[in-house]
Amino acid sequence: MTDTHQTANDYGSQERSDLLSVDEALQQIRKTLEPVEGFERCPLQQTFNRIVAEPVISPINVPGHVNSAMDGYAVSSTDLPSGDADAVLQVTGTAFAGNPFAGTLQNGQAVRIMTGAVVPEGADTVIMQEAVTREGDSITLQAGHKAGENVRHIGEDIAEGGVVLAPGKKIRAAEMGLLASLGIGEVTVSRRLRVATFSTGDELCSIGEIPREGQIFDSNRYSIAGMLRALNTEHIDMGVIRDDPEAISNAFSTAAKIADVLITSGGVSVGDADYVKQTLDKLGQVNFWKIKMKPGKPLAFGQLKDAVFFGLPGNPVSVMATFYEIVQPSLRHMMGQETHAPLRVKVRCVDKLRSPARQDFQRGILERDDSGEWVVRSTGHQGSHILSSMSQANCFIVLDAECRGVEPGEWVEVEPFEGLF
Ligand code: AMP
Ligand code: MG
Repeated sequence: MTDTHQTANDYGSQERSDLLSVDEALQQIRKTLEPVEGFERCPLQQTFNRIVAEPVISPINVPGHVNSAMDGYAVSSTDLPSGDADAVLQVTGTAFAGNPFAGTLQNGQAVRIMTGAVVPEGADTVIMQEAVTREGDSITLQAGHKAGENVRHIGEDIAEGGVVLAPGKKIRAAEMGLLASLGIGEVTVSRRLRVATFSTGDELCSIGEIPREGQIFDSNRYSIAGMLRALNTEHIDMGVIRDDPEAISNAFSTAAKIADVLITSGGVSVGDADYVKQTLDKLGQVNFWKIKMKPGKPLAFGQLKDAVFFGLPGNPVSVMATFYEIVQPSLRHMMGQETHAPLRVKVRCVDKLRSPARQDFQRGILERDDSGEWVVRSTGHQGSHILSSMSQANCFIVLDAECRGVEPGEWVEVEPFEGLF
């Protein structure tokens, strides 16, 4: 680990070899982090975006009965015609979803059946209505049907006693519907993470205040709040803390007592870092890293008493990129969520790009060109203070550390913003 100032020029120069890559940083963080303990029973309505903490076992088969996948006619496969001959069958009744046909089908008979209705006894096949001609009470069907077609079987979606949702699964709309389909009204989920945040910097002005000469509004507070909301955490917003040792020390102590995680922005650049480090040394063990990523080189990570600490850089785009790539997977791990590699796909880039010797997360706009092909273009100026680039973008263009640039038409990897932004 080094605290040495990294002075290399972003473009073209050799970067120090002791910088950590994003993957290395994530590995080191994962080694230290444990999922938080504690879970709660949650009514189904409130489970959206929560993480399953105990396996959900199905109490029933779904479907619970053999039923029709189509509106049509239930028949016995023994009555299906073969060769050139048609079959003519007598329609003896109707089966509605929720209102079955009571009798048993005899040879030569068919039952009019609706989607989801129980397939009557004696039938094993459903012929879709478009495939028959009906005259009065008889239907004519031609050869070419398969025995058992258009029939849904017991337990083919979910079998009774099977694990429907394993611990670590995030509950989305599909899972809410799935649980409802089993009649399950409550789920055991992991408790929400308590995340405290504050911004540091004497130059910061809060909304409602009038900025003095050289002051800027604190935007990190709000972008971080938005991302934490998307992760469904319990957010403790501590506002802006001045660049004053005592104020910072007090804020760190308070956060360490009340939160599982503390996320700050600013004050971890070289120079600042030494100063914040002195404050933190009293409270815990924090490492100051230089990450081989752009935007967002400086990053602090460690433990403050019982809380995990992420010290993000100050620049607004760096904050969002480091949060997305490093903090987000870490928080998901702490919430007990199953991990998966971020979704990245290759598309053609229409613009010329320059890139430094660090993994680069440029802001891109993924869209279809005139020929219908998915392509990505740059949002333009890639400075880490250009927050509007994050608003225009719908993806990161991820360029690895070795890449020094991209020519128009080259393939690049993009990471679509998924939910968090
Ligand atoms: P620092 O890492 O504290 O030196 O900050 C780097 C840059 O980010 C400086 O230009 C700061 O003014 C800016 N910055 C720091 N914190 C914030 C914030 N909360 N909102 C907007 N810009 C910030
Ligand atoms: Mg600062």
